[in-house]
Amino acid sequence: MQHFLDESGNIPKQMPKEARELASFFALVIDATTKNSPFTLTQTDIRCFEKGCQGMISSEILGKTEEIHWKCSKCPNEGIISGWKLTKWDNQQKLRL
Ligand SMILES: [Zn+2]
Repeated sequence: MQHFLDESGNIPKQMPKEARELASFFALVIDATTKNSPFTLTQTDIRCFEKGCQGMISSEILGKTEEIHWKCSKCPNEGIISGWKLTKWDNQQKLRL
């Protein structure tokens, strides 16, 4: 996640549109996942970013690496987000403060 962000932890405005959309999607997933930090795939209220896909995103935190695994309910979209800790969407960090 870190390589999407500028020095102040924001998504840079000059980023290409597609990369910005993806970074914003990752930010939503981090925000939703770290609220409950589920260790099994749990549905969020985030829509899949794939055009025409009505799927909802499920996510979980992988125990060993603490990466976030996310997956669409309808299309093959899925992925891993690493480097999300201490970003501004990390709700675990807010709880620790
Ligand atoms: Zn999808």
